Amino acid sequence: MNEIYSFSSEEYTNDPDMIETMGIRGKRIMDLARLGVPTLPGFILSNEFLATEEDSPKEHAANIKQAVNKMGKLLDKKFGDPQNPLLIKMVVSPMLNMVYTVFSLHNIGLCDTTIDGFAAYVGESFAYHEYRNVISRIIELDLKSTTEEDRKKTLETLLGKVQKAKAVTKIKQIIEEAKEYYPLDIFTDAWKQIEFAENLYKRFFEGNEALNDSALLVQAMTFGNYGKESYFGSYYTRNIVTGENELSGEFFENSFDSKGKKGKKITLIKAPYLDGLKQIASELERAFKEIRKITFTIEDGSLWVIDQFEASDKSTQAEMKTLLDLHSEGVIEDNYLIHALKPGRFAEILHPVLDKEAAKDVPYVQGGIAGAMGAAVGKVYFSTDELLKEYKMAQQRNQPLDFILVMPSTYAEDVKAIEVARGVLTKEGGYASHAPVVARSLGKVAMVFPEMEFRKDHIVINGQKFKEGDEISLDVPSYDTPKIYFSKLALIEPSINDCGILEFLEIIQKHIGDFDIHANADQPKDAELAKLFKADGIGLCRTEHMFFNEKRIPIFRTLIIADSVEERLKALDLLRPMQVDDFYNLFKIMEGHPVTIRLLDAPLHEFLPHTRQSMLDFIDFAKKQNPKLTEEEIRQRCDMLGEENPMLGHRGVRVAITYPEIYNMQVSAIFEAAYRLQKEGVDVVPEIMIPIIMDANEVRAVRFGKKIEGTEIIGINEIEKQVRDTLGARAIEYRVGVMIELPAAVLNADKIAKYADFFSFGTNDLTQTTNGLSRDDFNSFFTNYNEFDLLEKNPFKVLGKQVKEMVSIAAERGRLTRPDITMGICGEHGAEPANLPFIRSCGLNYASCSPYGIPIAKLALAQMNV
Ligand code: PEP
Ligand code: MG
Repeated sequence: MNEIYSFSSEEYTNDPDMIETMGIRGKRIMDLARLGVPTLPGFILSNEFLATEEDSPKEHAANIKQAVNKMGKLLDKKFGDPQNPLLIKMVVSPMLNMVYTVFSLHNIGLCDTTIDGFAAYVGESFAYHEYRNVISRIIELDLKSTTEEDRKKTLETLLGKVQKAKAVTKIKQIIEEAKEYYPLDIFTDAWKQIEFAENLYKRFFEGNEALNDSALLVQAMTFGNYGKESYFGSYYTRNIVTGENELSGEFFENSFDSKGKKGKKITLIKAPYLDGLKQIASELERAFKEIRKITFTIEDGSLWVIDQFEASDKSTQAEMKTLLDLHSEGVIEDNYLIHALKPGRFAEILHPVLDKEAAKDVPYVQGGIAGAMGAAVGKVYFSTDELLKEYKMAQQRNQPLDFILVMPSTYAEDVKAIEVARGVLTKEGGYASHAPVVARSLGKVAMVFPEMEFRKDHIVINGQKFKEGDEISLDVPSYDTPKIYFSKLALIEPSINDCGILEFLEIIQKHIGDFDIHANADQPKDAELAKLFKADGIGLCRTEHMFFNEKRIPIFRTLIIADSVEERLKALDLLRPMQVDDFYNLFKIMEGHPVTIRLLDAPLHEFLPHTRQSMLDFIDFAKKQNPKLTEEEIRQRCDMLGEENPMLGHRGVRVAITYPEIYNMQVSAIFEAAYRLQKEGVDVVPEIMIPIIMDANEVRAVRFGKKIEGTEIIGINEIEKQVRDTLGARAIEYRVGVMIELPAAVLNADKIAKYADFFSFGTNDLTQTTNGLSRDDFNSFFTNYNEFDLLEKNPFKVLGKQVKEMVSIAAERGRLTRPDITMGICGEHGAEPANLPFIRSCGLNYASCSPYGIPIAKLALAQMNV
């Protein structure tokens, strides 16, 4: 067993068994020495050595002397020298990362015989303060390990006096007094001071269970106030927010502490030192493969690294940029890069994040449910109308457009407010509810906070009142419970093109294997983003989202309250050209890739006006469209559309059976867009998807048509032919598929597959209908289930066992009929990395998720493959 492990820039130990005995500080210093960065020399007393009784204290003292003299030689100083004394520190090196600061003793070697020599460099006042600190720390350490009550009291009084002494004369006085309580030679002989300190530590460790297996690090001191060319400071190896490869941090010149002072930017330090610091940064980054924080001292022109740590406050973007740089320099390979980041952390890169510095002292409340990641700041408004009014005014006045929609829950008519707001905060709902789903698809932030109270003209969050126009900030990170800050904080905006994520995806892409990632996208900008992220297609275009905008929603309302085919067709005629444009744009952006258009699927009542004002606006509109309608009639028809249990109500394919005109319009718009693009030479791959299917007969009717007396469902195939003939186009290849989102569809999958080219599992509804859990109300009792260990994970995020079983059964039955059937998943579960192993293992071909989820899903896949 070695008792002393010396280190310096030229000497280190590499043996893992030895390093094991050195504690975490010792290990960190050995890392530095091993890397050859300028490390102040020193040695480590291993925990093994400290725990055993020394055979020969004399021999040990000689060994210590030898090791300390070796340090002095390297630094051109001598321990105990009256002119230019070497001073050392002893630092506890615990085996575990301790949260509290453990005792260290600095400036050992400072005593009556060396103080003047030291003062010649740093000034008398500083020198005596340090001498006082040595004595004060010795007393503190002594106190910590003393059990005798009388002695404790005496030491406490002495310590009080020592700590109070500020002026040099006072310090001199109190040191004289301290000599009565300690062996005189520790005040006169530097070597005796080391011996005394070591023994104190041994005693301290023995009496302290948490530390009794610690090692002791002994190292030379340096001073940033040792003369003209002396500095100290700390810096990160690069910018911890952006990842830009430029040192960030500060330094102080000829100074000994930074308290209350502002340092200078590290890049302004003299060129030769800056070069040295850069060189060290690069070596440490390459060695640790991440950003590090480094503390350093320059004493009389010599640069020394004091310590280095993980930069725990770095942003994900900075981390990613570092990995990319290391990758391009050949320091790390694809494999390392792929596993270095948790997929969910991409959410922080793609959305604005709060400036953590600015958030430091602002009151907040933590809790609720994360709906859509990111950070949002702004004025709160409690209705869509009010928010839009304020938004327009702010636009005209050139004021910041920072708004947050705060409502009990949101509906279709609120999408236009979510669109312009930075975020949405609701009291009700959960991950798969309206506000989070819409926010995710629009790249906005969403949070559900059930404890929020709505009063007449204000809301209450954690006892704090907020009126309309008051400001808050939402922080919804991927790795922590969300927070609401009670004021507006600074935001750091993402820049998808410059942040490095596209480069990162380029590397990941090679390792994704035979599985596709599609996007849930219904707006051109979503499709553009999906394309940027190299989505393999659009897996779910929710067409109902296309009717949510201000211009269309009143027309759609007249459509659903129409009580004759003629009235309905009139509204559909207005909507059709809009839909042609919609599909045209999506097909064009996604050229050559499949675009799955899901025919309308929303409970009709979702489109109804929900506020008094929107009702009045709509009455106005509807009367203009059909002057014969009275206000009373309009209200009655809206009332009739109300549903008791909307998720199981009049939605999806059921609307197609009742009002075939609606799907007819959508299907013909799809083909008109496709054939127009065909003429322009654009490669279009349309897929039509029918939602809320229970039974094969529904698919057959919608796909191939069905006639009954007096009325008819025209099949998709027939509509396609009509459009093709009208436009004189060549037949295009298209596919028709279904959403599997009801248990009945699962059980009928073999029969359904006869008429469906593909299955897309709508796991939001499938979770809802398999468990009989409402996706909107589930969170009101989820926490109780969770507390009682009855449900570990939110089943609307992480697929539950029974839903997985449903997917497996449907996949198996579907393949019995159609072995080459394409299958995918498009519920919110698609982007959750935890679901991907299952999705792939049951043979699905793709997952479709919001565009912002694409990088997350791709990284999760690559991690499964590499
Ligand atoms: C689903 O049910 O999983 C789905 C994707 O459809 P929506 O969320 O639109 O109901
Ligand atoms: Mg659904």
